[in-house]
Amino acid sequence: MTANYQKHLVYIALGSNLGNRLLNLQNAIQAVESKAVLITTSSIYVTPPWGVLDQPNFLNQIILVETELYPLELLRFLKKVEIESGRVETIRYGPRIIDLDILFYDDLILEMPILTIPHPQILNRAFVLFPLAEIAPDLPHPVIGRSMKQLLENWESEHSPSGIKLYCDAD
Ligand code: ADP
Ligand code: MG
Repeated sequence: MTANYQKHLVYIALGSNLGNRLLNLQNAIQAVESKAVLITTSSIYVTPPWGVLDQPNFLNQIILVETELYPLELLRFLKKVEIESGRVETIRYGPRIIDLDILFYDDLILEMPILTIPHPQILNRAFVLFPLAEIAPDLPHPVIGRSMKQLLENWESEHSPSGIKLYCDAD
């Protein structure tokens, strides 16, 4: 008998602000591809640090992948990739070689202490809303029902300019 594995569409946010940030993003994507098929990648964005201000700018990017991993398997796998990339625990919101967060997993809604899907900070974080609006403008947020384009417009109407810009080699 052959098992019938389901494929799931998952948006993953990547962030790096230590070491060779561009290479860290590329290496993380390559590692994720060992367990998932890469469908789309957003542009890379440069984001001023957030929470803890005295640290280098972040590079942020979002990928859409297709995977057979279940949500908790995926979380465990992404944490392994973070650790193998050399990430060490520092202060909350502090500098990191790589951060991998699950934003959406199909239209699943999940609330567990170690895993919340959709990621609870999506609405507050321009550095995920910009790339989400770029690659999935019409995707509805499964809880709120509004599209990524609408959520970004909402964010922009309620905040001062984000300072986020597209990455170029000079950054
Ligand atoms: P942050 O991403 O908030 O800067 P961490 O990467 O250290 O901080 O994550 C802290 C914890 O958040 C992880 O250990 C993980 O168990 C939990 N977590 C909850 N929901 C998610 C999610 N959707 N994606 C990734 N981690 C999550
Ligand atoms: Mg994280």
